[in-house]
Amino acid sequence: MSTMRAMVLERPGAPLAPRERPLPVPGAGEILVKVSACGVCRTDLHVVDGELDKPALPVVPGHEIVGRVAALGPGVAGFTIGERVGVPWLGGTCGVCRYCRSGAENLCDAPAFTGYTRDGGFATHALADARYCFPLGEEGEDAAIAPWLCAGLIGWRSYRMAGEAAALGLYGFGAAAHILAQVARWQGRRVYAFTRRGDTSAQDFARAHGAVWAGGSDDMPPEPLDAAIIFAPVGALVPAALRAVRKGGRVVCGGIHMSDIPSFPYALLWQERQVVSVANLTREDAREFLALAPHAGVRCAVVRYPLERANAALSDLRDGRLQGAAVLIP
Ligand SMILES: [Zn+2]
Ligand SMILES: [Zn+2]
Repeated sequence: MSTMRAMVLERPGAPLAPRERPLPVPGAGEILVKVSACGVCRTDLHVVDGELDKPALPVVPGHEIVGRVAALGPGVAGFTIGERVGVPWLGGTCGVCRYCRSGAENLCDAPAFTGYTRDGGFATHALADARYCFPLGEEGEDAAIAPWLCAGLIGWRSYRMAGEAAALGLYGFGAAAHILAQVARWQGRRVYAFTRRGDTSAQDFARAHGAVWAGGSDDMPPEPLDAAIIFAPVGALVPAALRAVRKGGRVVCGGIHMSDIPSFPYALLWQERQVVSVANLTREDAREFLALAPHAGVRCAVVRYPLERANAALSDLRDGRLQGAAVLIP
């Protein structure tokens, strides 16, 4: 009887197709979420463009879901009908592998990912495993906090991985960087933003969101960086960032996919510089960030698109036409 609408990836490389489906009934441990807003993340782009190899096709992308609990499956505790919740990228873990048992569930051997191995939020409704959902309270607009669910959470994990950097470089100033720059400013750190060379509007955007300096990705910052986080999916930024960090500094790769890293002289890595990657998130990362973001006064710059215009949102992200975060509104 009841139906839902979704934008569905049926074949990588093809546009998402608008589909009507029967409204699903939550199984044991699941909740049905009526989606109010769903952010568009670069990972969605990688899924749609076929750069990640295991989507459960057909799949509904979208893993920055803000919505309200519409139905509870058997055995769900801790959520009530109508409550506002967030659904992130980490949609489930096995609970028994060595990573799950050691507090590294982000590296689980048998994970589920929202909008990739299970249907996500480019839809009017989504099912989610309640254990991986978060209460969001009533502060803040749905669309403005949707980007917190991935750009914020995985950005936060990357930020923590960067350590206590007083001088922090952010390469690629999109959704994640504009959130973290606000957190960093709140914490009294100095953020240096690196964008495509000559992209003065992105550089203005960065300075307006907490960066003390903004320049091109080949530019040297006015002081050596303690750490850098790379959000742009561009492998050539790894040697560029290594060049900009001080001895003992760290370069964190925050994305799920990146073009190949060109070879570079060992001298760039020498003197205990480090290159690390960040994968996914733990629920602990989410709890930390969701508690901190309101205190830090994080305000997302969002561009709203009706759900049916998901393909336009993806194109704008792919072509670098966005400032801040795209958010779909069903
Ligand atoms: Zn596991
Ligand atoms: Zn994401």
